[in-house]
Amino acid sequence: MNAAVFYGPNNIKIKDIDIQKRKSNEILLKVLSCSVCSYDVRTFRNGHFKVTPPIILGHEICAQIIDEYQSKNLLIKPKSRVSIYPIIPCNACWYCAHKKYNLCINLKEIGSTLNGGFAEYILVPKTVFEIGGIIPVLDNVSNEEACLIEPLACCINGINQVKNLEINSVIIIGDGPIGLMQLLLIKKILNKNVTIIGKIPHRLESAKKLGADYTLLINEKNNDNDNDNNNNIFEKYKKLIKNTSSEFSPNLIFISNNNAGSLNLALKLVNKNGLIIIFSGIKNQNADNKGMINIDPNFIHYNQISIFGSFSSTPKAINDAMNLINSKEIDLKEIITKKFSLFEIEEALQATESFKGFKSIINN
Ligand SMILES: [Zn+2]
Ligand SMILES: [Zn+2]
Repeated sequence: MNAAVFYGPNNIKIKDIDIQKRKSNEILLKVLSCSVCSYDVRTFRNGHFKVTPPIILGHEICAQIIDEYQSKNLLIKPKSRVSIYPIIPCNACWYCAHKKYNLCINLKEIGSTLNGGFAEYILVPKTVFEIGGIIPVLDNVSNEEACLIEPLACCINGINQVKNLEINSVIIIGDGPIGLMQLLLIKKILNKNVTIIGKIPHRLESAKKLGADYTLLINEKNNDNDNDNNNNIFEKYKKLIKNTSSEFSPNLIFISNNNAGSLNLALKLVNKNGLIIIFSGIKNQNADNKGMINIDPNFIHYNQISIFGSFSSTPKAINDAMNLINSKEIDLKEIITKKFSLFEIEEALQATESFKGFKSIINN
């Protein structure tokens, strides 16, 4: 089969790979579509501490079953389309016992530590089926939408952590596909006022179309860790929400881009009793740790601020994401903007990195 193999920073090549030699605990699936995540781009450019090349990246996958598979409560017939939960649990640790597989202490991930979906076929360990991580794609859902079930589930995982806490308004720092998915979910689940802060005008236009109450354009050239810049954004935001209930009430701030300095901006924008979620992985730090944040413990203490992390998702969140897309309660069509063949993988990575459109999808 053809696969896009990552050999190290800036080095990805289409290779003919033999997949006949599969282990007894592996299931073979035909990849139909796999979308490009900014994690793939960061890894392609700089490598990643979790990734040991050579490896096939890609973890947002819609695939087709080849052999019938029967687990305890699910029969999946050949040719069925499925969405894949990209986490392989050890099933031995506390987190696995509590179905928080994303936090497994022996975590393995498809497209990161195991070969992923930028290929014609993929081998998935049977444990993924057994924990309910292979989810049949419902008829209303296209292959491309099925890829986005994984990132949508990650967004659901983030919102689940805070949805029962007191929040009056939401700010999303990041105007990419993740920021827009969070916007749609927050409107659906929490029904709060949402502001999107971003650097790309066409993306902020889409955010408005999808229901953002306010959008704020920040200068692309400015350093996110620059205090003057953050003060400037803070002033503009304060003007937007002046005399509304968002001005002085607990807010929720998503960091949905990969700049370390966004945490500084979030700390500037957060109100008393507010919450910050660090949703995205952060770009490689410089050797001198430029971009690292110093947090003032007194600020956190006296203002009762909470900072959360959110990583990946759970099989339950994948199911919830599938149902939201199938029922059309969440429509991701606006976010699917470009389709590529496997042979165009570099173009797809470049389109993602240069903020062209939103999601780039590799179709087989
Ligand atoms: Zn991803
Ligand atoms: Zn585990």
